[in-house]
Amino acid sequence: MNHVLVLNSGSSSIKYQLVDVSTGEAAAGGLVERIGESEGVLRHDGPTGRTERTQVVPDHTAGVRAVLDLFDEVGPSLTELELVAVGHRVVQGGDRFTEPTLVDDDVEAAIEELSPLAPLHNPPNLAGIRAARTAFPDLPHVAIFDTAFHHTLPPEAYTYAIDRETARTYGIRRYGFHGTSHAYVSRRAAAMLGKDPAEVNLVVAHLGNGASITAVEGGCSVETSMGLTPLEGLVMGTRSGDLDPAVIFHLQRVAGMSTDEIDTLLNRRSGLLGLAGVNDLRDIHAAIEAGDDDAALALEVYCHRLRHYVGAYYAQLGRVDAVVFTAGVGENDDVVRLEALSGLERLGIVVDPERNEGRKKAETVISPDDAEVAVLVIPTNEELEIAQQAVAVVQGA
Ligand code: AMP
Repeated sequence: MNHVLVLNSGSSSIKYQLVDVSTGEAAAGGLVERIGESEGVLRHDGPTGRTERTQVVPDHTAGVRAVLDLFDEVGPSLTELELVAVGHRVVQGGDRFTEPTLVDDDVEAAIEELSPLAPLHNPPNLAGIRAARTAFPDLPHVAIFDTAFHHTLPPEAYTYAIDRETARTYGIRRYGFHGTSHAYVSRRAAAMLGKDPAEVNLVVAHLGNGASITAVEGGCSVETSMGLTPLEGLVMGTRSGDLDPAVIFHLQRVAGMSTDEIDTLLNRRSGLLGLAGVNDLRDIHAAIEAGDDDAALALEVYCHRLRHYVGAYYAQLGRVDAVVFTAGVGENDDVVRLEALSGLERLGIVVDPERNEGRKKAETVISPDDAEVAVLVIPTNEELEIAQQAVAVVQGA
């Protein structure tokens, strides 16, 4: 009774992992992609290695069914393992969900009500929950919200300086995202520093295809770069991050673009992709090697914005014990880590070039031993965090 099935349901995909919470290891995992397209793709890593196949997967219910069929066929057997719970990633929990929550019909309805705040994410998250509750009607299902870790933001950090009544009516405020990752990494950072999470101040940079940075004070999120939606803040793979809101009126009035076109431009065709034509940092580096000036500028803009936030969050916290890098870029890109923190020596932030070199598959200190502020690379593990939080809810229930 140590296993939790973790589901992350996107608009056309379901990612899953079977986590053994007693060891922290994944017993199996995989992916269903191209849900709703003419042919779906399934990939399952189990005890006998990888199984891949294509089949039509019309919707999330069929997707969950296909995952269960794979477990039945190639193992491990979910019946024999006696699952403790199913943990579901949900992106937007609004003001209501500040903790991991046992799902019932009322919670499902509330997640649906929050969909206008996360139209790309909450509906597929909910479709996955509904499909899994149908497949496992007797198991507890726990929703873990990306926004929950940020419920400790103080009003001055989450309030946008717009008309208060309008903001209240439409739920316009900073919510913050990637909370599961920021929570996991913050706890691991405290452990690496040999301190209690309540004692440490951190600046945590989750740099994946989506990217956000969080100021953590005494283990709690007090400021974060993503806002009402995951569009605000750092330069990302395909999202612009911060810009003057008047850019949007300008695109409407002068370029004649529709709201949906601007949404697509800023969420899907901006960031590194917009600047350099590719969204993966590996491709950016290859283009720079080949002499591409656009790619070189894209990397500079990316690191410039990151440095800006590190400095701002240092100022908000007053004292910083560690700067932490995580996720695809943070764990793998030594150039970004070095560049983003260059010039911050006066703040006590120094990267040791030798320690920093290369990809980090394990938790690593990349600052010199005598540095005032530790710089850490910590591989994130959102699935483990979701599984552990789900177990805590079930045991506390
Ligand atoms: P994630 O969203 O956390 O899976 O991160 C995905 C991103 O990590 C990719 O878009 C790349 O930009 C980046 N990434 C992955 N591997 C590497 C690598 N070896 N070097 C640099 N960046 C990487």
